[in-house]
Amino acid sequence: MLADVIQSPAEATYWLVQGRILFLWISLVGVACFAYIVAKRLAPLMRGAPDFRFDRPLERLGKVLQFWLGQWRHPRYRTAGTIHLLIFAGFLILVIRAFSLLILGVDSGFAMPGGHFYDIVKDYAATIVFLAVGIAAIRRLVFKPARYAKGNTADAIFLLALIGVLMLADSVFEASKAAAHQQAGQSVEFLATLSMPWVLKNALLKNALTSASLPVLQNLNLGGFFVHEVTFFFLLCYRPFGIQFHVETSLFSIYFAKLDRETLKPVRWGVGDDQLDQVKSFGVKTFEDFTWKHMLDFYSCADCGRCADQCPANAVGRPLSPRFLTTKARDYSFQHYPILGKSNNGTALIGTIYSEDEIWSCTTCGACEAECPLLVEYIDKIVDLRRGMVDDGKVPQSLQKPLKSLESRGNPFGKMEKKRAEWAKGAAKILSGPLNGNATAETLYFVDSVTSYDDRIQAIGRATAKILTHLGEDFGILGAAEKDSGHEVRRFGEETLFMTLRDHNTEAIRASGVRRIVTADPHAYNALKHNQVYDDPREVLDAIPGLRRVEMKRSRDRSFCCGGGGLALFYEPQEEQRMGVRRVQMAAEAGANVMVTACPFCMVNVEDAIKVAGMEGKMTAIDLAELAGQQIAG
Ligand code: SF4
Ligand code: SF4
Repeated sequence: MLADVIQSPAEATYWLVQGRILFLWISLVGVACFAYIVAKRLAPLMRGAPDFRFDRPLERLGKVLQFWLGQWRHPRYRTAGTIHLLIFAGFLILVIRAFSLLILGVDSGFAMPGGHFYDIVKDYAATIVFLAVGIAAIRRLVFKPARYAKGNTADAIFLLALIGVLMLADSVFEASKAAAHQQAGQSVEFLATLSMPWVLKNALLKNALTSASLPVLQNLNLGGFFVHEVTFFFLLCYRPFGIQFHVETSLFSIYFAKLDRETLKPVRWGVGDDQLDQVKSFGVKTFEDFTWKHMLDFYSCADCGRCADQCPANAVGRPLSPRFLTTKARDYSFQHYPILGKSNNGTALIGTIYSEDEIWSCTTCGACEAECPLLVEYIDKIVDLRRGMVDDGKVPQSLQKPLKSLESRGNPFGKMEKKRAEWAKGAAKILSGPLNGNATAETLYFVDSVTSYDDRIQAIGRATAKILTHLGEDFGILGAAEKDSGHEVRRFGEETLFMTLRDHNTEAIRASGVRRIVTADPHAYNALKHNQVYDDPREVLDAIPGLRRVEMKRSRDRSFCCGGGGLALFYEPQEEQRMGVRRVQMAAEAGANVMVTACPFCMVNVEDAIKVAGMEGKMTAIDLAELAGQQIAG
């Protein structure tokens, strides 16, 4: 039918070359360029540190279905998420469309199976994507959401424009063909009502020039096809130069994403703890020290800014934005592994693209990871960078003393071991262990350092012991045999010290003969087991008569760190406002006059922040264990 009215691109002649030959060449050159560029981009990954991500394939496929195909986290930001969902859904359909057009360029008789259903879907997909990229461009240029600040807006707009051109060119190709058929009185090509090709076809038929002239429609048809093909390959080869590379890499980085999020990566994959003394250099010092998966993360970041938007360090003006950690590493990779020319590696990252303060500013709270729609990892990278700094002796002055104390006394305060159980006199028995008597119990209450030594926090320990006693639990503590859980030490980057503490505690716990462990400290809990407990503490609160619970704007997996993680109790980076103060303000905004904590670090920071914010008398803090303890008589 088509051959009767206008020539198909494969049959037509473009600048003396038959379309079929021209489009075959465009495809071959396009694919070859893309393969070359991707190979160059993968070069640093080949030099990266090992990373074991090949286990549990079914679970990994599930992640791909949920987070890549299902775009699970996108709707957390409603407007941007909806736009992205539309573009992504359209993208999936239009990838099929683009490949069908590539075949049509060499085989004029090719038709996609699916008939009118396929036509309707692809016409509407092109229309929706065209409108969505338009809205996305207006958002970036006119409304400028704060989280896009300092982003590469020009690159983003250029890419959105290319996608728009692709949709428009395809629609012109379709519309001109349908208009030509209609003019010739032949059965009209099927176009979805009110779709972009449908609107264009009607416009062409109403236009005086095109309504009368088949040659003009022919040229529009061939031109639309040519522009689509060239733009498609240009886009394919251009994407690996900027943020749009995530289109290609995100599927793989989600497949290889970390499955057990609450754990930290080992110093080096494949090297056991007992072989660590053979590792010459700890952590990440140069770009090539990152694992291949972490490098893949750098390519997969879409620069959406959500991680930075949720990051408490960024919110209080510390010199850290997780988004920039990634984009700086990506720029570094692009610069040092150029598409043309030799790679140039081995530069120290600290002092060039990252500052020491930037890396120490992180509280390892994980808000960035909880938000990233592409499951980009941060804590492991930051801890690896810290391991590198610790290995080079770059430890902030204020942290040197607590670290020494942890080494010599097993707690960061430098207090005597024998004083560790003083708070528990009459409240808990001390279990047998290398340093203790012969007492045993079913349950061990693992107290950890802050609760053991801090005068205010000891009350949480006593409340916990009271609850356990009330429940009739046969429990005890390790007392002097307990050392710091090492949770913070490990996140600080001191792996060897962490291992010493862990091994000591493991031995002491074994020797005590207990069958289970409880703790009132989420950091200790995390060092022993995994976290993510949101409902249980709320149920406890709701069971207290007369208590009205209100939620802060940021809670559960969108919570806001108090500022105490990662040994930050002993380190204060530059900041405009304390995280704790911001948190207290959030509680006041929620209408609360009491803040309930479930973590000793939170209690230390929140009580301090109430004073700093001048809210004494208006706001008080109490730990969940203390509150529950008050409900028990005696
Ligand atoms: S872990 Fe927390 S403090 Fe660190 S970069 Fe992520 S959001 Fe920011
Ligand atoms: S790391 Fe994730 S959340 Fe952060 S900018 Fe990149 S894609 Fe967005």
